[in-house]
Amino acid sequence: MPKNTFFDVIVAGAGPAGSTCATLLVQYGYRVLILEKNRHPRFHIGESMLPMAEPIMQRLKINWNEGNLRKGGAKFMDEQQGKSSYFPFQGKYSTVQVERSVFDQRLFENGISQGVVAHQQEGVIDMQSDAEKVLVKTSKRSYEGRYFIDATGRSAIMGRFKQSLEPIKTLGKFAVYQHYQLDDNLITAELFHNGHIEIILSELGWFWCIPLTKQRLSIGLVVQKENQLNLKGEKLLDYYIKKSPRLTELLANSKTLSKVAVEADFSYLNTQRYGVRYACCGDAAGFLDPVFSSGVFFALKTAEMVADQLHAGLSSGTEANINLHDKDNKTYQTGFQSMYLMIKRFYSSNMVDNLFFEAERAPQVKNEVIALLAGDLWTKNNTFQQGLLSGRQSF
Ligand SMILES: Cc1cc2nc3c(=O)[nH]c(=O)nc-3n(C[C@H](O)[C@H](O)[C@H](O)COP(=O)(O)OP(=O)(O)OC[C@H]3O[C@@H](n4cnc5c(N)ncnc54)[C@H](O)[C@@H]3O)c2cc1C
Repeated sequence: MPKNTFFDVIVAGAGPAGSTCATLLVQYGYRVLILEKNRHPRFHIGESMLPMAEPIMQRLKINWNEGNLRKGGAKFMDEQQGKSSYFPFQGKYSTVQVERSVFDQRLFENGISQGVVAHQQEGVIDMQSDAEKVLVKTSKRSYEGRYFIDATGRSAIMGRFKQSLEPIKTLGKFAVYQHYQLDDNLITAELFHNGHIEIILSELGWFWCIPLTKQRLSIGLVVQKENQLNLKGEKLLDYYIKKSPRLTELLANSKTLSKVAVEADFSYLNTQRYGVRYACCGDAAGFLDPVFSSGVFFALKTAEMVADQLHAGLSSGTEANINLHDKDNKTYQTGFQSMYLMIKRFYSSNMVDNLFFEAERAPQVKNEVIALLAGDLWTKNNTFQQGLLSGRQSF
């Protein structure tokens, strides 16, 4: 195999997970190829970040406070009951709301500047691995390597090859969303000043309301319940926006910046996240309903875990060991399961009413919820999280 088609690691997908994993591996000194089916900049939904991703951004040598709107926390609102609760982030890390096309391109180009070899508009169509090597086939040619990383997002190619994607049906079913250019007035000025995400409860599910730089707003409705009116797409979004006093006031005199888009096929877990000479990270490892904005955080965190563990394997020549990621798998399960259980409670119990709106009365619980909403999922002393994991937490 000629040298320019042999790499230590071949990464499929240049979203946040793939670019992060590739960059960290190049920092360790490996020859890494990243293959992206599309071309940056490309649109992507998922704009609200979590503070605990900041240390990973620091490892990548990216200051995400530059060029993005600072996110102060998360506010949950039930307009019918006139109740709301704000969870401010207060730890040592800060976070932002991002325009994903710009953010993802920045992560990708940052990797290239550190030595990642990148091919765009070259999708992976097959991957075969054995004890000796991996063989990766794309739309253009074949490559050999020591290891393969699946970071293809919800395309989750390894999960599909291995038929190991398990849908989680109890959470949100699909999202319908649009971007707006807001009018400059006192109400919108306050929104951009605070920068927090607003989660507004709706009859069908919930709205995200994410302020971005340049007076732009991302609004999406995540639908969980049947829609008796049988509305679809734009009509569905408009109908429920008009029922929300908060969204109506924010959108007064606004202009739409995009067409209404829909994303379906929601939450799932990939039950086979690694195997002989391959591992999955980001959405390719599992995807959760976005109510607590955990997607990009998990993408960065799983990419970091895979890169660090793979370095241990490659540097000792044990990367073909099928158990290479066993330890990280437990860590992943703790984080994913904690977030999943919190999301499940969001939909199926009165967690928002009984806990979030009552949080002022229980400062310790409030702080523990804030820690989870920040992505601080691996401390030993969060009793709220322990209650979730042990099934004791009811609401
Ligand atoms: C409606 C909705 C709202 C969301 N809101 C939020 C939010 O507010 N905050 C948040 O953190 N997350 C949110 N998310 C989740 C977030 O978007 C994802 O978790 C995140 O993008 C995962 O990053 P990734 O790198 O794993 O995958 P992606 O960002 O999807 O990147 C995967 C890349 O792989 C490429 N690819 C696919 N197939 C192939 C192939 N065969 N070969 C080569 N390349 C391939 C794709 O083109 C893409 O560039 C939301 C998701 C949805 C659906």
